[in-house]
Amino acid sequence: MKVSSQYLLIIFLFAMMLSKGVYAYTILLDPGHGGSDQGASNEIALKKGKYKVIYEKDLALQLTKKIYSQLKKKGYNVFLTRSVDRTVHLEERAAMAEKLKADLFISVHFNSSLNRHSNGFETYYLDNHSNVAVKKVEDAENKNLKGDELVIRQILIDLVIQRTTSTSKKLATYINKRINQRIARRYKVVNRGVKAGLFYVLALSKRPGVLLEVGFVSNKKELTKMINPYFQNKYAGGVVEGIEKYIAETGKKALF
Ligand SMILES: [Zn+2]
Repeated sequence: MKVSSQYLLIIFLFAMMLSKGVYAYTILLDPGHGGSDQGASNEIALKKGKYKVIYEKDLALQLTKKIYSQLKKKGYNVFLTRSVDRTVHLEERAAMAEKLKADLFISVHFNSSLNRHSNGFETYYLDNHSNVAVKKVEDAENKNLKGDELVIRQILIDLVIQRTTSTSKKLATYINKRINQRIARRYKVVNRGVKAGLFYVLALSKRPGVLLEVGFVSNKKELTKMINPYFQNKYAGGVVEGIEKYIAETGKKALF
């Protein structure tokens, strides 16, 4: 009798370890830009002929905080690379992923184009490619890393691409699908799809991750939709559902 109760206790403890409480996923959320790095910007008209400048860094922080609180409510270990308006270098963001032993890394950005009619949302994962349109987005998002650092790290990046691309692509696909369900028809925004890109913040973080381009700041009509907290909540909900789908598919075990 005594032996069997000890046995039950061991089973119980093992079940506890496997439950979310012990093996909860650690997710690092990365609001793009910040501080002196403002990202894309555009003016929106206010009443009485006044204008207000909207910066990507502020939108990214607002939306990322919505993803943060939704994930937190569900019991995940969630962290932000910045919670205020401050400059954080790509290296520092990546170092946080390492320190926290994050399972997933989600970077939040807003797009910009010289064509003010460009519109829609895109979901990126880390991979090599030679697409000129994608290159423009990369240049904007990679710009605060120095030239020689990029060269030195090329070998590391190639290794990370090999290890994370298939899982990151899966994560990107789930997230993109759920965002699409939540906002595409409701807010009449275009799904530009899941794309491969060479983003150093993803490579340096060395874990499965995606970079979200929520929509175009350069498009005033789209910008007006994106500053709306309801839009941001819906979008955040899509991201959270995509992450949950990914975790359900891949299991709770950490990959690194
Ligand atoms: Zn950006």
